[in-house]
Amino acid sequence: MGSPLYFSHPACLEHKTPAGHPERPGRITAIERALAQRAWLGYELREAPPASREMLVAVHSAEYVDAVRSMSRRGGAFDPETVVSAGSYTAAAHASGAACAMVEALLGTRESQVGFCATRPPGHHANTDTTSGFCLFNHVAVATRFALDWLRSERVFIFDWDVHHGDGTNDIFRGSDAVLYASIHQSAIFPGTGPLADAGARAGAGYSLNLPVPKGSGEDAWLSLLEHVVIPAAEEFDPDLVLISAGYDAHRDDEQAGCELEASSFAEMARHIRTLGERTGAPVGAVLEGGYALDALAASVCATMKALAGEQAPDSVAPDFLTSRAASYVGHHWGL
Ligand SMILES: [Zn+2]
Repeated sequence: MGSPLYFSHPACLEHKTPAGHPERPGRITAIERALAQRAWLGYELREAPPASREMLVAVHSAEYVDAVRSMSRRGGAFDPETVVSAGSYTAAAHASGAACAMVEALLGTRESQVGFCATRPPGHHANTDTTSGFCLFNHVAVATRFALDWLRSERVFIFDWDVHHGDGTNDIFRGSDAVLYASIHQSAIFPGTGPLADAGARAGAGYSLNLPVPKGSGEDAWLSLLEHVVIPAAEEFDPDLVLISAGYDAHRDDEQAGCELEASSFAEMARHIRTLGERTGAPVGAVLEGGYALDALAASVCATMKALAGEQAPDSVAPDFLTSRAASYVGHHWGL
């Protein structure tokens, strides 16, 4: 099996946002400066192709894809936070394309077991025909659909560790039992969705695992829920592909929310997910979502990539009282 793979494209720097906007090109530059200082952590660098229209319209409506393109040409804003410039459509198309190229390499040609996409704008708030929260196209959803429709994947596990609920991704797959969507997110902040009671619908009932945590939650809460709730559910699901919606705004330095994770917390989460992939035989690919404190973002991405490519086993960090608290937390809401 080949080296771990890193996907990006210069077009992602051409999505311009106004001065003071947290989702800025410097995010990618900061990540790549840190990676270059570390010899890219042994990852093989690949330039991401743009997603084809066929890939995008498997998730988004054709009218919506056209609207994003024409709004980009004109420049403007879908909402006060979701702003587009001349390069935005192309940036978003390459970001979705990166996720698809990664999935192709992981699951199609099986060149590697691990990948990371450092692209922008982020994607997990974008729905079939709505932009939201800095997001235009939902890259993880596009890549998931690509895996299911073109690569004969049968079960994709998406773990979303961005501090915000990935409402777009959750909505897109809410009715499907081919996708297990699990999210740990801070409660009562944007976008306001993702209560524990939202466990999916129709054929997808039980295939959404929403775990809101209160403001101030740190590594003990996040890792406890991951180790004792998310991982056992994902093992039961037995995915053939694992995708991480890798946002870094739960870092304690990030001003977009109030959680208290450190770079090492993301490494530990990545080790748990990598180990899950090894146990189930599923490759693991991560796609950048949020993360706006540049030093914290760069350090956390490096920590994640190192952990995904490494061999260190995860620690079982959660003490027993947290184990039982996590179990009762879920049991209470699900009537177990
Ligand atoms: Zn976020």
